[in-house]
Amino acid sequence: MPHDTPLISTIVGGLVLAFIFGALAHRLRMPPLIGYLIAGVLVGPHTPGYVADQSLAPELAEIGVILLMFGVGLHFSLKDLMSVRGIALPGAIAQIAFATLLGWGLGALMGWPTGGSLVFGLALSVASTVVLLKALQERRLVETERGRIAVGWLIVEDLAMVLALVLIPAAAGIGGEGHAPAEPLSAGLNRLFDVNLGIGGMIAMTLVKVALFVALMLVFGRKLIPWTMHRIAHTGSRELFRLGVLAIALGVAFGAAKLFGVSLALGAFFAGMVLAESELSHRAAQESLPLRDAFAVLFFVSVGMLFDPNILIDRPLPIIATIFIIVIGKSVAALLIVLAFKKPLATALTISASLGQIGEFSFILAALGVDLGLLPEEGRDLILAGAIISIILNPLLFFLCDRMRPLLEGARREENPAEPAVAPAEETVPTENDDEVHPSSLHGHAIVVGYGRVGKIVGQNLKSAGTPFLVIEDSDKRVGELKAQGIEAFLGNAAATETLDLANLPAARSIAIAIPNAFEACRIAEQARSANPSILIVARAHSDAEVEALKQYGADTVIMGEREIALGMVDRLAQVHHESVAYEDSAYEDSHGPDTIIATDDPPPERE
Ligand code: AMP
Repeated sequence: MPHDTPLISTIVGGLVLAFIFGALAHRLRMPPLIGYLIAGVLVGPHTPGYVADQSLAPELAEIGVILLMFGVGLHFSLKDLMSVRGIALPGAIAQIAFATLLGWGLGALMGWPTGGSLVFGLALSVASTVVLLKALQERRLVETERGRIAVGWLIVEDLAMVLALVLIPAAAGIGGEGHAPAEPLSAGLNRLFDVNLGIGGMIAMTLVKVALFVALMLVFGRKLIPWTMHRIAHTGSRELFRLGVLAIALGVAFGAAKLFGVSLALGAFFAGMVLAESELSHRAAQESLPLRDAFAVLFFVSVGMLFDPNILIDRPLPIIATIFIIVIGKSVAALLIVLAFKKPLATALTISASLGQIGEFSFILAALGVDLGLLPEEGRDLILAGAIISIILNPLLFFLCDRMRPLLEGARREENPAEPAVAPAEETVPTENDDEVHPSSLHGHAIVVGYGRVGKIVGQNLKSAGTPFLVIEDSDKRVGELKAQGIEAFLGNAAATETLDLANLPAARSIAIAIPNAFEACRIAEQARSANPSILIVARAHSDAEVEALKQYGADTVIMGEREIALGMVDRLAQVHHESVAYEDSAYEDSHGPDTIIATDDPPPERE
């Protein structure tokens, strides 16, 4: 690998190895992120062979954090954020305090100075944005009430970090425990203004800067950003649109960090949020997806690089205690806090599982602590080891929470027989299948998967024909609307067996898979066919390859959207030209035979 091109070799080394080990992990039925972490350990300095640039990898990973938070912002409105502040704000603060206390206790036991123990505790209290968002996205929870609470919680933690990065160097100077860093890490803020402000003044100044940024985004950004995107969309250039999305996400994040001392992640989140109300937000999310995924992978590689496996042998007990605080201490605290707010158990379990890990924020705090002479090097090593192990354990934590739910629910009801099984009234929309979901009791019914532009028309027609049907959807807004109309609907990813099982497949007569993603559609078709060999499976595709794949997985009829659009156009042209414009698609006929072409005299479907 050439050493004069460290950026290229870090990107190439990181991505190629992450791909190989990610694929291997998938093959072994493990989460791919374990593969990415192993790739990181291999290119890190603690294992022999090629060593990637240790300062470049985390910086590249920041781009992943920015794009992830931008993507989350695109699904969030200000109303969503405000609706969870009642629980996210006190919840996150209480949890940070509790975890800091535990970490401080451990530090004190090991004989570290108070300042160092506090930095250690603080580092254990903040969850990683990337790990949390990836976990929520995989489970399609971002747009559910519990997902929103978790994201709100994350934003409060992020703000707490912004404050901590300003306050720790100041406190170290005042307390005289440490020494001033040679090159201050919290470059943004404390370099810009006078440290003589005092702690109270610094907190106030930081909050004013954050508030100023938020106000600017909500007043000007809200108009300027969607307006710019609309103008770019009108140029018709996909390339420019994509570039515009990236320029806004990265530009606002960087500007927010440099000018206002706000974290990159928070800046990106607000950039996404102000675009969320425009109808272009969906396209913007699509455009940033591939880069987001690639750079988020580099995050895991960069975490792996920091890990020194020797610490597992040298310091087993302190590591066990650290992991206990991160995985058990923090999770139980979050669980109790959310339950104290009278939220359903499933919400509490999801939030506690998603917060039972640490990552990038903790590394920054650890580096700052060591730099200021507050935290012993051992503390940093424990934080790094705690991060990698808690990230590996995180999918397991989700699995355990899912398993524990029925047990805890039973125990709770025995203690409190009067307590309703379903979420209390404050969950305004009947959003989640959180508590007490029973599989459908319909027989001879149709199942509609996805209730967007396609599924909605299918559903409306089934309804007017009087055919019994149910819907599986992963947007809680849509499920709420369907339930309000008296239509049986289940929330979740239909490609997940637990969700599909709710649709009573063995008794169903047909299933319409009306979602755009062919990978998921194939998984659904496969499961539907194995649960019910005689069910009629109708699926949606966008290319010939997808048609083939869906048929292989058991679909009886596959409708290719683009072909149907062409047919509709041909039909209209024929009416205007008063002559028969025959539909011909030789490429399609060659591969499928002439009889697969569907002639249609039907009126075009009603538009949404
Ligand atoms: P459209 O492309 O407008 O027909 O919308 C597709 C709809 O399907 C949206 O409402 C999505 O929320 C929903 N959807 C997409 N993938 C899944 C999935 N795997 N499980 C359940 N619903 C889905």
